[in-house]
Amino acid sequence: MIDLHIHSYYSDGVYSPKELVQCAQELGLSTVCLTDHNGIDGLDEFFSISKERGLKAIPGVEIYTHYKDRQLHILGYDFDTKNKALNKALKKLQKTHIPQVQQTIKALQEHGWNIDEKKVFDTKATYIGSATIAGVLKKDSQNWERIQKDFKNRKIIPITEIIGKYLFKPKQIYFESEIAVKKAIQLIKNAGGKAVLAHPGQHLSWEDEDIIAELKQMGLDGIEAVTSHHSWQEIEHWQIVAKELDVMITVGSDFHGYVPKEWDFVIRGPWDYFKTSDFEISFNEH
Ligand SMILES: [Zn+2]
Ligand SMILES: [Zn+2]
Repeated sequence: MIDLHIHSYYSDGVYSPKELVQCAQELGLSTVCLTDHNGIDGLDEFFSISKERGLKAIPGVEIYTHYKDRQLHILGYDFDTKNKALNKALKKLQKTHIPQVQQTIKALQEHGWNIDEKKVFDTKATYIGSATIAGVLKKDSQNWERIQKDFKNRKIIPITEIIGKYLFKPKQIYFESEIAVKKAIQLIKNAGGKAVLAHPGQHLSWEDEDIIAELKQMGLDGIEAVTSHHSWQEIEHWQIVAKELDVMITVGSDFHGYVPKEWDFVIRGPWDYFKTSDFEISFNEH
């Protein structure tokens, strides 16, 4: 079993590369690709531990891009990790993101939240995502009280809902650092890699096949049709689109971490879905 889309604490994942290798092996995965957002800083660590433990590791990255007023996530695979242009572009994305993170923190403070810039930046992440900011926000007891009140005293409030409510609505105060999709595809390809559109169902509708065709013109090599973000219908649909366009179909969980143990009822995390036998049966059929 393979997983070509996971995140470590070098972006907005919970685990270190070492812990990820451990989790992957416990799950019985044979090949894993670390695809942190806008950065490849965890790869060296990931490779050396994978090698030591006998797990096949592939270089990866997930770049935030824009195309025709949409955000698209482009996965890069199997590229030269030392490629200068790619490294330079990723460093630039990380650097230009810092003032954006600072502005977000300032806006949150102005909205009465208890949030310290130092705590947000006290992280291994070379690209600080919205989940990191929301995580720091949630840790403060006063903030947590306010959040719970806003969510009508619900006990379990996933980080994604906190991000949606306070960083994006009612006023968007957080933005990702993005590059044009064409540029991202070119950077990956020029570094000898393959460019794949991540979880298309998150950003595109079934009527957007023309966009996929345009991406193929730019050099797109594949579509992540099998992902925890897609329904079974979407998985089928995007596999058909990939077949019709003659591009690769890839598989990725987009694992950021397990659902917290404190949630004393069963909610499945992305890797749990990948463990089910249903998945393997359905996947083999296509
Ligand atoms: Zn993504
Ligand atoms: Zn991802």
